[in-house]
Amino acid sequence: MTKTQQIIEQTDKYGAKNYNPLPIVISEAKGVWVKDPEGNEYMDMLSAYSAVNQGHRHPKIIQALKDQADKVTLTSRAFHNDQLAPWYEKVSSLTGKGMVLPMNTGAEAVETAFKAARRWAYDVKGVEEGKAEVIVCNGNFHGRTMTAVSMSSDPEYQRGFGPMLPGIVHIDYGDLEALKDAVNENTAAIILEPIQGEAGIIIPKEGFLKEAREFCRENNVLFIADEIQAGLARTGKMFACEWEDVDPDMYILGKALGGGVFPISCVAADKEVLGVFNPGSHGSTFGGNPMACAVSIASIEVLEEENLADKALELGEYFMAELRKIDNTDIKEVRGRGLFIGVELHTEARPYCEKLKELGLLCKETHDTVIRFAPPLVISKEELDWALGKIREVFAA
Ligand code: PLP
Repeated sequence: MTKTQQIIEQTDKYGAKNYNPLPIVISEAKGVWVKDPEGNEYMDMLSAYSAVNQGHRHPKIIQALKDQADKVTLTSRAFHNDQLAPWYEKVSSLTGKGMVLPMNTGAEAVETAFKAARRWAYDVKGVEEGKAEVIVCNGNFHGRTMTAVSMSSDPEYQRGFGPMLPGIVHIDYGDLEALKDAVNENTAAIILEPIQGEAGIIIPKEGFLKEAREFCRENNVLFIADEIQAGLARTGKMFACEWEDVDPDMYILGKALGGGVFPISCVAADKEVLGVFNPGSHGSTFGGNPMACAVSIASIEVLEEENLADKALELGEYFMAELRKIDNTDIKEVRGRGLFIGVELHTEARPYCEKLKELGLLCKETHDTVIRFAPPLVISKEELDWALGKIREVFAA
């Protein structure tokens, strides 16, 4: 039995079955490449769902981790730590927002945004207690906590977990008229992904984000952008909202905020919104810990210093243009922004992902018929050409 087989068997024996991974075990990684225990090399075209935008084990981020590990790792928020303050300032200048609240995972940051929106509705907007509504979009993915699955429109995400959280109103993604109809005096916020990732790289109709943002401003409704997957250079801009020059009331960030090295997430907004939290109203033992903050500062610096947004834009356009040249009737559409790319098929995507894995290229289907290509943004043009060769081979078969 190979080491890979042994690990998969052990996983199947003891692990809860809430995932269905491709049958590959990764035991080493660097940049865009990963290795299994037998030494086979693969290119990573998923980037841990965009958490590894800076590439696996970026030397600067790893150094920050090691340096901080030799100093202090956790203080809790009962005391100050010396990494949180500079991290606050870094994220504030990155987002242009005056206040930042750290958590650990994406779903926790979504929870934070949701709580902030409700409290803002009661304390600032003057909504009657217990009546606040939050608008969300069909097809969304905001995580797996009860609030996040309550926001979902996918019955499979909710099955067996009810009752769901009340006060959530669904509209179709990109439907401005539906948004206008849904807003009333109790509406606290709309929470949306500027590009829907898990739904299959869905880009809203041009103008929607901008018009929705303006409508929210005019109607005293918070516009909250979940940039956990699309943000931090992935789409060829630091934030996907920039594609429509939109400045949301609140950003929700995660994943690449920790460079794929340490979990860290946050919400960023101005004081008028995030100022609603007071001591005791929200928190997390690990939120804002010095390891995460030190790693996150380095992770943001790498995005900036290596111009990863510009790189994603340029390489993404090239990659998409080449993908569109592939002549295969199974391909319905190639779409994306930057290196956030979906190839929608008329058929199941999983067999294609399995064939690509055999050729050394790792990617993952999303919503059955879409292959998502989202390599680390440090990928070179030569490496992309290598990937294109494998993709052409699979579609030629
Ligand atoms: N929001 C979006 C847009 C996501 O893509 C994800 C994860 O895929 C989440 C929230 C949840 O993040 P996490 O898995 O870190 O809880």
